[in-house]
Amino acid sequence: MTMQSKLLERTGGYIGGQWITEAPGGNFDVINPANGDVLARLPNMAAPECVAAIEIAERSLRPGEPVSERRRWLEILHDRLLAMKEEFAKIITSENGKPLREALVEVEYAAGFFRFFAEQTPRLEPEVLPGRMRNCTWTIHRRPAGVAGLIAPWNFPLAMMGKKVAAALAAGCGIVIKPARQTPLSMIALCHVAEQIGLPVGRLNVVFGPAGPIGETFCTHPAVRVISFTGSTETGEWLAIKSAPHLKRLALELGGNAPFLVFEDANLERAADALIANKFRVAGQTCVCANRVLVQARAAAQFTELVAERVRKLRVGDGFDPASDLGPLIDRAQYEKVAAHVRDALARGARRIAGSDPPPLSHDWGAFFPPTVLTGVTRDMKVCCEETFGPVVAIATFDTEAEAVAAANDTCYGLAAYAFSEDADRLDRLSSQLQFGHLGFNTGTGPRPEAPFGGFKRSGYGREGGVDGLFEFCESQVVARA
Ligand code: NAP
Repeated sequence: MTMQSKLLERTGGYIGGQWITEAPGGNFDVINPANGDVLARLPNMAAPECVAAIEIAERSLRPGEPVSERRRWLEILHDRLLAMKEEFAKIITSENGKPLREALVEVEYAAGFFRFFAEQTPRLEPEVLPGRMRNCTWTIHRRPAGVAGLIAPWNFPLAMMGKKVAAALAAGCGIVIKPARQTPLSMIALCHVAEQIGLPVGRLNVVFGPAGPIGETFCTHPAVRVISFTGSTETGEWLAIKSAPHLKRLALELGGNAPFLVFEDANLERAADALIANKFRVAGQTCVCANRVLVQARAAAQFTELVAERVRKLRVGDGFDPASDLGPLIDRAQYEKVAAHVRDALARGARRIAGSDPPPLSHDWGAFFPPTVLTGVTRDMKVCCEETFGPVVAIATFDTEAEAVAAANDTCYGLAAYAFSEDADRLDRLSSQLQFGHLGFNTGTGPRPEAPFGGFKRSGYGREGGVDGLFEFCESQVVARA
Protein backbone atom coordinates (compact mmCIF):
# COMPACT_ATOMS: atom_id res chain seq x y z
CA MET A 1 0.00 0.00 0.00
CA THR A 2 1.46 3.40 -0.92
CA MET A 3 0.49 6.68 0.64
CA GLN A 4 -2.28 8.69 -1.03
CA SER A 5 -1.86 12.47 -1.03
CA LYS A 6 -2.35 15.13 -3.62
CA LEU A 7 1.19 16.25 -2.75
CA LEU A 8 2.52 12.80 -3.63
CA GLU A 9 0.85 12.21 -6.98
CA ARG A 10 4.34 11.59 -8.28
CA THR A 11 7.15 10.27 -6.15
CA GLY A 12 10.80 9.93 -6.98
CA GLY A 13 13.99 11.88 -7.08
CA TYR A 14 13.56 15.33 -8.62
CA ILE A 15 16.26 16.60 -10.95
CA GLY A 16 15.85 19.52 -13.34
CA GLY A 17 12.07 19.29 -13.13
CA GLN A 18 12.03 15.55 -13.95
CA TRP A 19 10.80 12.87 -11.56
CA ILE A 20 13.30 10.01 -11.35
CA THR A 21 11.71 6.70 -10.43
CA GLU A 22 14.43 4.23 -11.47
CA ALA A 23 18.13 4.10 -10.66
CA PRO A 24 20.86 1.52 -11.23
CA GLY A 25 21.07 1.09 -7.44
CA GLY A 26 17.52 -0.34 -7.29
CA ASN A 27 14.87 0.88 -4.87
CA PHE A 28 14.18 1.32 -1.18
CA ASP A 29 10.93 1.43 0.77
CA VAL A 30 9.76 4.26 2.96
CA ILE A 31 7.78 2.80 5.84
CA ASN A 32 5.39 4.17 8.41
CA PRO A 33 7.30 3.68 11.69
CA ALA A 34 4.05 3.13 13.59
CA ASN A 35 2.75 0.14 11.64
CA GLY A 36 5.26 -0.86 8.96
CA ASP A 37 3.03 0.15 6.02
CA VAL A 38 5.06 0.82 2.89
CA LEU A 39 4.40 4.47 2.04
CA ALA A 40 6.48 4.67 -1.13
CA ARG A 41 9.18 2.88 -3.09
CA LEU A 42 11.96 5.22 -4.19
CA PRO A 43 15.09 4.89 -6.32
CA ASN A 44 18.45 4.42 -4.66
CA MET A 45 20.39 7.22 -6.31
CA ALA A 46 24.15 7.53 -6.13
CA ALA A 47 27.05 9.72 -7.28
CA PRO A 48 26.09 9.99 -11.02
CA GLU A 49 22.54 11.16 -10.23
CA CYS A 50 23.93 13.54 -7.61
CA VAL A 51 26.39 15.02 -10.12
CA ALA A 52 23.52 15.50 -12.60
CA ALA A 53 21.49 17.31 -9.93
CA ILE A 54 24.40 19.56 -8.95
CA GLU A 55 25.13 20.51 -12.55
CA ILE A 56 21.50 21.29 -13.30
CA ALA A 57 21.34 23.37 -10.10
CA GLU A 58 24.43 25.25 -11.27
CA ARG A 59 22.87 25.97 -14.65
CA SER A 60 19.78 27.35 -12.92
CA LEU A 61 21.81 30.19 -11.37
CA ARG A 62 21.02 33.53 -12.96
CA PRO A 63 23.50 36.36 -12.36
CA GLY A 64 21.65 39.58 -11.64
CA GLU A 65 18.41 37.78 -10.72
CA PRO A 66 16.11 40.31 -9.04
CA VAL A 67 15.91 39.79 -5.32
CA SER A 68 12.25 40.79 -5.47
CA GLU A 69 11.54 37.70 -7.58
CA ARG A 70 12.99 35.43 -4.94
CA ARG A 71 11.00 37.21 -2.28
CA ARG A 72 7.83 36.46 -4.24
CA TRP A 73 8.66 32.72 -4.46
CA LEU A 74 9.28 32.56 -0.73
CA GLU A 75 6.04 34.34 0.05
CA ILE A 76 4.07 32.01 -2.19
CA LEU A 77 5.77 28.95 -0.70
CA HIS A 78 4.90 30.23 2.78
CA ASP A 79 1.26 30.69 1.78
CA ARG A 80 1.07 27.28 0.09
CA LEU A 81 2.55 25.49 3.07
CA LEU A 82 -0.06 27.02 5.33
CA ALA A 83 -2.87 26.44 2.84
CA MET A 84 -1.90 22.74 2.63
CA LYS A 85 -0.98 22.42 6.29
CA GLU A 86 -3.10 19.31 6.91
CA GLU A 87 -1.75 17.52 3.82
CA PHE A 88 1.85 18.21 4.81
CA ALA A 89 1.18 17.23 8.42
CA LYS A 90 -0.27 13.86 7.38
CA ILE A 91 2.86 13.14 5.37
CA ILE A 92 5.07 14.07 8.33
CA THR A 93 3.13 11.86 10.75
CA SER A 94 3.12 8.98 8.26
CA GLU A 95 6.86 8.97 7.68
CA ASN A 96 8.12 10.14 11.08
CA GLY A 97 5.44 8.82 13.48
CA LYS A 98 5.01 12.02 15.55
CA PRO A 99 1.49 12.97 16.70
CA LEU A 100 -0.49 14.82 14.05
CA ARG A 101 -0.87 17.91 16.25
CA GLU A 102 2.94 18.14 16.52
CA ALA A 103 3.20 17.72 12.75
CA LEU A 104 0.79 20.65 12.25
CA VAL A 105 3.03 22.79 14.47
CA GLU A 106 6.03 21.67 12.42
CA VAL A 107 4.39 22.85 9.18
CA GLU A 108 3.72 26.28 10.72
CA TYR A 109 7.30 26.42 12.00
CA ALA A 110 8.67 25.51 8.56
CA ALA A 111 6.43 28.09 6.86
CA GLY A 112 7.78 30.70 9.28
CA PHE A 113 11.25 30.36 7.72
CA PHE A 114 9.88 31.11 4.25
CA ARG A 115 8.12 34.20 5.60
CA PHE A 116 11.14 35.33 7.60
CA PHE A 117 13.68 34.94 4.79
CA ALA A 118 11.25 36.63 2.35
CA GLU A 119 11.23 39.60 4.72
CA GLN A 120 15.03 39.57 4.89
CA THR A 121 15.63 39.72 1.12
CA PRO A 122 16.03 43.54 1.12
CA ARG A 123 19.29 42.91 3.03
CA LEU A 124 20.61 41.36 -0.18
CA GLU A 125 20.30 44.59 -2.15
CA PRO A 126 23.66 46.30 -2.84
CA GLU A 127 24.86 48.51 0.01
CA VAL A 128 26.89 51.64 -0.79
CA LEU A 129 29.29 52.64 2.01
CA PRO A 130 29.13 56.26 3.10
CA GLY A 131 31.89 58.59 1.86
CA ARG A 132 34.55 58.08 -0.83
CA MET A 133 37.60 56.14 0.34
CA ARG A 134 40.67 56.26 -1.94
CA ASN A 135 38.53 58.41 -4.18
CA CYS A 136 36.16 55.53 -4.91
CA THR A 137 32.58 54.56 -4.17
CA TRP A 138 32.46 51.25 -2.32
CA THR A 139 29.55 48.89 -2.94
CA ILE A 140 28.93 45.61 -1.14
CA HIS A 141 27.02 42.94 -3.04
CA ARG A 142 25.70 39.77 -1.42
CA ARG A 143 26.14 37.19 -4.17
CA PRO A 144 24.68 33.68 -4.09
CA ALA A 145 27.45 31.35 -2.93
CA GLY A 146 26.70 28.83 -5.73
CA VAL A 147 25.12 25.42 -5.42
CA ALA A 148 24.09 24.45 -1.90
CA GLY A 149 24.06 20.80 -0.84
CA LEU A 150 21.55 20.32 1.97
CA ILE A 151 21.42 17.29 4.27
CA ALA A 152 19.02 16.83 7.20
CA PRO A 153 17.82 14.12 9.60
CA TRP A 154 14.40 12.53 10.07
CA ASN A 155 13.14 14.19 13.26
CA PHE A 156 11.60 17.24 11.53
CA PRO A 157 11.20 16.03 7.93
CA LEU A 158 9.81 19.34 6.68
CA ALA A 159 11.23 21.97 9.02
CA MET A 160 14.88 20.87 9.23
CA MET A 161 15.23 21.00 5.48
CA GLY A 162 12.69 23.80 4.97
CA LYS A 163 14.80 26.23 7.00
CA LYS A 164 17.80 25.52 4.78
CA VAL A 165 15.81 25.66 1.53
CA ALA A 166 14.23 29.00 2.47
CA ALA A 167 17.58 30.64 3.25
CA ALA A 168 19.32 29.19 0.17
CA LEU A 169 16.48 30.25 -2.13
CA ALA A 170 16.49 33.75 -0.66
CA ALA A 171 20.24 33.98 -1.28
CA GLY A 172 19.79 32.85 -4.90
CA CYS A 173 21.59 29.49 -4.65
CA GLY A 174 20.84 26.39 -6.70
CA ILE A 175 19.81 23.61 -4.34
CA VAL A 176 20.35 19.87 -4.08
CA ILE A 177 18.62 18.21 -1.15
CA LYS A 178 19.46 14.86 0.40
CA PRO A 179 16.77 14.01 2.95
CA ALA A 180 17.09 11.25 5.55
CA ARG A 181 16.30 7.82 4.11
CA GLN A 182 13.44 7.34 6.60
CA THR A 183 11.65 10.61 5.77
CA PRO A 184 12.04 11.73 2.13
CA LEU A 185 8.32 12.28 1.41
CA SER A 186 7.98 15.77 2.89
CA MET A 187 10.67 17.00 0.49
CA ILE A 188 8.97 15.31 -2.47
CA ALA A 189 5.83 17.19 -1.44
CA LEU A 190 7.79 20.45 -1.27
CA CYS A 191 9.06 19.85 -4.83
CA HIS A 192 5.46 19.41 -6.02
CA VAL A 193 4.63 22.80 -4.60
CA ALA A 194 7.79 24.34 -6.09
CA GLU A 195 6.78 22.92 -9.47
CA GLN A 196 3.26 24.33 -9.17
CA ILE A 197 4.48 27.84 -8.36
CA GLY A 198 6.89 27.89 -11.31
CA LEU A 199 10.22 27.94 -9.51
CA PRO A 200 12.89 27.96 -12.26
CA VAL A 201 13.66 24.45 -13.45
CA GLY A 202 16.73 23.06 -11.73
CA ARG A 203 16.69 25.51 -8.82
CA LEU A 204 15.46 22.83 -6.40
CA ASN A 205 16.49 19.18 -6.76
CA VAL A 206 16.18 16.12 -4.54
CA VAL A 207 18.30 13.00 -4.49
CA PHE A 208 18.18 10.07 -2.10
CA GLY A 209 19.98 6.82 -1.61
CA PRO A 210 23.09 5.68 0.25
CA ALA A 211 24.33 8.71 2.14
CA GLY A 212 28.10 8.16 1.76
CA PRO A 213 28.40 8.53 -2.05
CA ILE A 214 25.98 11.47 -2.11
CA GLY A 215 27.79 13.19 0.77
CA GLU A 216 31.14 12.62 -0.88
CA THR A 217 29.87 14.12 -4.13
CA PHE A 218 28.72 17.24 -2.27
CA CYS A 219 32.18 17.46 -0.69
CA THR A 220 34.17 17.10 -3.91
CA HIS A 221 32.12 18.60 -6.75
CA PRO A 222 33.49 22.08 -7.49
CA ALA A 223 30.07 23.65 -8.12
CA VAL A 224 28.91 22.93 -4.56
CA ARG A 225 30.10 25.91 -2.53
CA VAL A 226 28.03 25.44 0.64
CA ILE A 227 27.08 22.29 2.52
CA SER A 228 24.47 22.80 5.17
CA PHE A 229 24.14 19.74 7.35
CA THR A 230 22.00 18.82 10.34
CA GLY A 231 22.65 15.50 12.01
CA SER A 232 25.11 13.66 14.18
CA THR A 233 28.48 15.06 15.19
CA GLU A 234 30.19 12.00 13.63
CA THR A 235 28.68 12.67 10.19
CA GLY A 236 29.39 16.40 10.50
CA GLU A 237 33.04 15.69 11.21
CA TRP A 238 33.21 13.29 8.26
CA LEU A 239 31.83 16.00 5.96
CA ALA A 240 34.30 18.54 7.34
CA ILE A 241 37.23 16.21 6.70
CA LYS A 242 36.08 15.16 3.21
CA SER A 243 35.38 18.70 2.08
CA ALA A 244 38.45 20.34 3.64
CA PRO A 245 40.73 19.94 0.58
CA HIS A 246 38.03 21.67 -1.48
CA LEU A 247 37.56 24.55 0.99
CA LYS A 248 33.79 24.29 1.06
CA ARG A 249 31.81 26.47 3.36
CA LEU A 250 30.02 24.31 5.92
CA ALA A 251 27.16 25.00 8.29
CA LEU A 252 26.99 22.15 10.78
CA GLU A 253 24.07 21.70 13.19
CA LEU A 254 25.17 18.68 15.17
CA GLY A 255 24.41 16.68 18.27
CA GLY A 256 23.51 18.04 21.69
CA ASN A 257 23.41 17.02 25.34
CA ALA A 258 21.13 19.68 26.78
CA PRO A 259 21.14 20.29 30.54
CA PHE A 260 17.88 21.37 32.17
CA LEU A 261 18.67 23.13 35.46
CA VAL A 262 16.00 23.53 38.13
CA PHE A 263 16.91 25.71 41.13
CA GLU A 264 15.08 25.51 44.44
CA ASP A 265 13.69 29.03 43.92
CA ALA A 266 12.01 28.01 40.64
CA ASN A 267 8.30 27.70 40.05
CA LEU A 268 8.43 23.90 40.11
CA GLU A 269 5.04 23.29 38.49
CA ARG A 270 5.99 25.53 35.60
CA ALA A 271 9.36 23.84 35.26
CA ALA A 272 7.74 20.38 35.24
CA ASP A 273 5.24 21.41 32.54
CA ALA A 274 8.03 22.92 30.44
CA LEU A 275 10.15 19.80 30.84
CA ILE A 276 7.35 17.53 29.62
CA ALA A 277 6.72 19.74 26.55
CA ASN A 278 10.43 20.00 25.79
CA LYS A 279 11.43 16.41 26.49
CA PHE A 280 8.63 14.44 24.85
CA ARG A 281 8.35 16.33 21.55
CA VAL A 282 9.05 13.80 18.74
CA ALA A 283 9.26 11.19 21.53
CA GLY A 284 12.44 12.81 22.84
CA GLN A 285 14.20 12.67 19.48
CA THR A 286 15.18 16.33 19.12
CA CYS A 287 18.62 17.86 19.36
CA VAL A 288 17.37 20.55 21.77
CA CYS A 289 15.46 18.33 24.16
CA ALA A 290 16.69 18.05 27.74
CA ASN A 291 19.12 15.17 28.04
CA ARG A 292 20.18 15.76 31.66
CA VAL A 293 17.84 17.19 34.26
CA LEU A 294 19.85 18.74 37.10
CA VAL A 295 17.79 19.69 40.17
CA GLN A 296 18.93 21.50 43.29
CA ALA A 297 18.93 18.88 46.05
CA ARG A 298 16.41 20.57 48.34
CA ALA A 299 13.81 20.74 45.52
CA ALA A 300 14.60 17.33 44.03
CA ALA A 301 11.98 15.15 45.74
CA GLN A 302 9.13 17.55 45.01
CA PHE A 303 10.17 18.28 41.42
CA THR A 304 10.76 14.60 40.65
CA GLU A 305 7.28 13.68 41.81
CA LEU A 306 5.72 16.50 39.73
CA VAL A 307 7.52 15.15 36.68
CA ALA A 308 6.79 11.48 37.37
CA GLU A 309 3.06 12.06 37.85
CA ARG A 310 2.94 13.84 34.46
CA VAL A 311 5.01 11.17 32.70
CA ARG A 312 2.84 8.32 34.00
CA LYS A 313 -0.15 9.93 32.25
CA LEU A 314 1.53 10.12 28.82
CA ARG A 315 -0.01 7.88 26.15
CA VAL A 316 2.21 6.31 23.50
CA GLY A 317 0.61 5.26 20.22
CA ASP A 318 0.01 5.87 16.54
CA GLY A 319 0.46 9.56 15.73
CA PHE A 320 -2.91 9.60 13.95
CA ASP A 321 -4.70 8.62 17.17
CA PRO A 322 -5.64 11.91 18.89
CA ALA A 323 -5.12 10.21 22.27
CA SER A 324 -1.39 9.70 21.58
CA ASP A 325 0.98 12.09 23.31
CA LEU A 326 3.99 10.53 21.65
CA GLY A 327 4.53 8.24 18.71
CA PRO A 328 7.07 5.49 18.05
CA LEU A 329 10.80 5.98 17.87
CA ILE A 330 12.02 6.19 14.31
CA ASP A 331 13.33 2.62 14.08
CA ARG A 332 14.63 -0.39 15.94
CA ALA A 333 18.20 0.93 16.13
CA GLN A 334 16.99 3.99 18.01
CA TYR A 335 14.79 1.82 20.27
CA GLU A 336 17.69 -0.43 21.14
CA LYS A 337 19.98 2.52 21.82
CA VAL A 338 17.48 4.07 24.24
CA ALA A 339 16.88 0.70 25.93
CA ALA A 340 20.65 0.22 26.31
CA HIS A 341 20.97 3.67 27.93
CA VAL A 342 18.25 2.80 30.46
CA ARG A 343 19.81 -0.62 31.21
CA ASP A 344 23.21 1.01 31.69
CA ALA A 345 21.77 3.58 34.12
CA LEU A 346 19.90 0.93 36.14
CA ALA A 347 23.02 -1.25 36.30
CA ARG A 348 25.01 1.71 37.64
CA GLY A 349 22.52 2.46 40.41
CA ALA A 350 19.81 4.71 38.94
CA ARG A 351 16.18 4.14 40.03
CA ARG A 352 13.30 3.94 37.55
CA ILE A 353 10.24 5.68 39.01
CA ALA A 354 8.17 5.76 35.82
CA GLY A 355 8.24 3.46 32.81
CA SER A 356 9.01 -0.21 32.42
CA ASP A 357 11.26 -2.59 30.48
CA PRO A 358 10.62 -2.02 26.77
CA PRO A 359 9.33 -5.20 25.10
CA PRO A 360 11.69 -6.85 22.57
CA LEU A 361 11.17 -5.64 19.02
CA SER A 362 11.52 -8.02 16.10
CA HIS A 363 10.98 -5.54 13.26
CA ASP A 364 12.04 -2.05 12.27
CA TRP A 365 8.71 -0.39 13.13
CA GLY A 366 6.38 -0.15 16.13
CA ALA A 367 9.20 1.10 18.37
CA PHE A 368 6.86 2.41 21.08
CA PHE A 369 9.13 3.12 24.02
CA PRO A 370 7.60 3.50 27.52
CA PRO A 371 8.09 7.07 28.80
CA THR A 372 10.61 6.71 31.58
CA VAL A 373 11.90 8.69 34.56
CA LEU A 374 15.23 7.80 36.17
CA THR A 375 16.56 9.28 39.40
CA GLY A 376 19.96 9.01 41.04
CA VAL A 377 21.67 9.63 37.71
CA THR A 378 25.45 10.14 37.79
CA ARG A 379 27.90 11.49 35.25
CA ASP A 380 29.35 8.05 34.40
CA MET A 381 26.00 6.87 33.00
CA LYS A 382 25.27 6.93 29.25
CA VAL A 383 22.05 8.87 29.84
CA CYS A 384 24.23 11.65 31.21
CA CYS A 385 27.27 11.68 28.98
CA GLU A 386 25.72 10.68 25.62
CA GLU A 387 22.69 11.94 23.72
CA THR A 388 19.88 9.43 24.45
CA PHE A 389 17.41 10.76 21.84
CA GLY A 390 14.40 9.09 23.43
CA PRO A 391 11.59 9.55 25.99
CA VAL A 392 13.76 9.19 29.09
CA VAL A 393 13.98 11.85 31.80
CA ALA A 394 17.31 11.40 33.59
CA ILE A 395 17.44 13.30 36.90
CA ALA A 396 20.59 14.17 38.85
CA THR A 397 21.04 16.63 41.72
CA PHE A 398 23.37 19.50 42.63
CA ASP A 399 23.87 21.66 45.71
CA THR A 400 25.26 25.03 44.58
CA GLU A 401 24.98 27.26 41.53
CA ALA A 402 28.67 26.82 40.77
CA GLU A 403 28.22 23.05 40.84
CA ALA A 404 25.23 23.32 38.50
CA VAL A 405 27.18 25.41 35.98
CA ALA A 406 30.15 23.04 36.07
CA ALA A 407 27.89 20.00 35.57
CA ALA A 408 25.95 21.68 32.75
CA ASN A 409 29.13 22.59 30.87
CA ASP A 410 30.68 19.17 31.49
CA THR A 411 30.04 17.99 27.92
CA CYS A 412 31.73 18.33 24.56
CA TYR A 413 28.40 19.60 23.15
CA GLY A 414 26.99 23.10 23.33
CA LEU A 415 23.66 23.29 21.56
CA ALA A 416 20.90 24.08 24.07
CA ALA A 417 20.51 24.52 27.82
CA TYR A 418 17.62 25.51 30.08
CA ALA A 419 17.41 27.00 33.55
CA PHE A 420 14.49 27.59 35.88
CA SER A 421 14.79 30.11 38.70
CA GLU A 422 12.83 33.11 39.99
CA ASP A 423 16.10 34.95 40.73
CA ALA A 424 16.76 37.37 37.84
CA ASP A 425 20.36 38.00 38.92
CA ARG A 426 21.07 34.29 38.86
CA LEU A 427 19.70 34.02 35.30
CA ASP A 428 21.91 36.95 34.22
CA ARG A 429 24.93 35.19 35.68
CA LEU A 430 24.02 31.91 34.00
CA SER A 431 23.68 33.45 30.55
CA SER A 432 27.36 34.36 30.50
CA GLN A 433 28.52 31.10 32.08
CA LEU A 434 26.61 28.45 30.14
CA GLN A 435 28.46 27.43 26.97
CA PHE A 436 25.50 26.77 24.69
CA GLY A 437 24.15 28.48 21.57
CA HIS A 438 20.51 28.41 22.70
CA LEU A 439 19.44 29.17 26.27
CA GLY A 440 15.88 28.86 27.58
CA PHE A 441 15.24 30.57 30.93
CA ASN A 442 11.95 29.62 32.59
CA THR A 443 10.94 28.14 29.24
CA GLY A 444 11.71 24.95 27.36
CA THR A 445 11.15 26.50 23.97
CA GLY A 446 13.39 25.66 21.03
CA PRO A 447 14.52 27.85 18.10
CA ARG A 448 12.50 30.40 16.08
CA PRO A 449 13.00 31.53 12.46
CA GLU A 450 13.90 35.05 13.58
CA ALA A 451 16.77 34.01 15.88
CA PRO A 452 20.15 32.54 14.86
CA PHE A 453 20.37 28.95 16.04
CA GLY A 454 23.49 26.80 16.30
CA GLY A 455 25.94 25.23 18.65
CA PHE A 456 29.14 25.83 20.55
CA LYS A 457 31.92 23.21 20.74
CA ARG A 458 31.21 19.85 19.05
CA SER A 459 27.62 20.84 18.33
CA GLY A 460 28.98 22.45 15.17
CA TYR A 461 29.41 25.86 13.59
CA GLY A 462 27.34 28.18 11.43
CA ARG A 463 23.83 29.34 12.20
CA GLU A 464 20.34 28.71 10.92
CA GLY A 465 17.57 31.26 11.22
CA GLY A 466 18.06 34.93 11.87
CA VAL A 467 20.03 37.11 9.49
CA ASP A 468 23.10 34.92 10.15
CA GLY A 469 21.23 32.01 8.57
CA LEU A 470 20.76 33.97 5.34
CA PHE A 471 24.39 35.01 5.06
CA GLU A 472 25.56 31.37 5.35
CA PHE A 473 24.50 31.10 1.68
CA CYS A 474 26.01 34.38 0.41
CA GLU A 475 29.44 35.60 -0.63
CA SER A 476 30.16 39.26 0.06
CA GLN A 477 31.64 40.98 -2.96
CA VAL A 478 33.07 44.49 -2.78
CA VAL A 479 33.28 46.80 -5.77
CA ALA A 480 35.56 49.84 -5.36
CA ARG A 481 34.85 52.16 -8.30
CA ALA A 482 36.88 55.26 -9.11
P1 NAP B 1 23.04 11.17 10.95
O1 NAP B 1 23.24 9.70 10.95
O2 NAP B 1 24.22 12.03 10.93
O3 NAP B 1 22.10 11.46 9.69
C1 NAP B 1 21.62 12.75 9.40
C2 NAP B 1 21.57 12.92 7.89
O4 NAP B 1 22.87 12.77 7.36
C3 NAP B 1 20.71 11.89 7.17
O5 NAP B 1 20.12 12.51 6.05
C4 NAP B 1 21.73 10.86 6.73
O6 NAP B 1 21.33 10.12 5.60
C5 NAP B 1 22.87 11.77 6.37
N1 NAP B 1 24.18 11.13 6.35
C6 NAP B 1 24.63 10.10 7.09
N2 NAP B 1 25.91 9.81 6.74
C7 NAP B 1 26.25 10.69 5.76
C8 NAP B 1 27.41 10.90 4.97
N3 NAP B 1 28.51 10.16 5.11
N4 NAP B 1 27.39 11.89 4.05
C9 NAP B 1 26.30 12.64 3.87
N5 NAP B 1 25.16 12.49 4.58
C10 NAP B 1 25.15 11.53 5.52
O7 NAP B 1 22.17 11.62 12.18
P2 NAP B 1 20.91 10.91 12.81
O8 NAP B 1 21.40 10.00 13.87
O9 NAP B 1 20.00 10.36 11.79
O10 NAP B 1 20.20 12.17 13.45
C11 NAP B 1 20.23 12.44 14.80
C12 NAP B 1 21.36 13.40 15.15
O11 NAP B 1 21.08 14.65 14.55
C13 NAP B 1 21.44 13.65 16.62
O12 NAP B 1 22.77 13.66 17.03
C14 NAP B 1 20.87 15.05 16.77
O13 NAP B 1 21.33 15.77 17.87
C15 NAP B 1 21.27 15.68 15.50
N6 NAP B 1 20.41 16.83 15.22
C16 NAP B 1 20.96 18.07 15.33
C17 NAP B 1 20.16 19.17 15.10
C18 NAP B 1 20.71 20.56 15.20
O14 NAP B 1 20.04 21.50 14.76
N7 NAP B 1 21.88 20.76 15.75
C19 NAP B 1 18.82 19.00 14.76
C20 NAP B 1 18.31 17.71 14.68
C21 NAP B 1 19.13 16.62 14.91
P3 NAP B 1 20.68 8.66 5.74
O15 NAP B 1 19.40 8.85 6.44
O16 NAP B 1 20.50 8.25 4.33
O17 NAP B 1 21.66 7.82 6.50
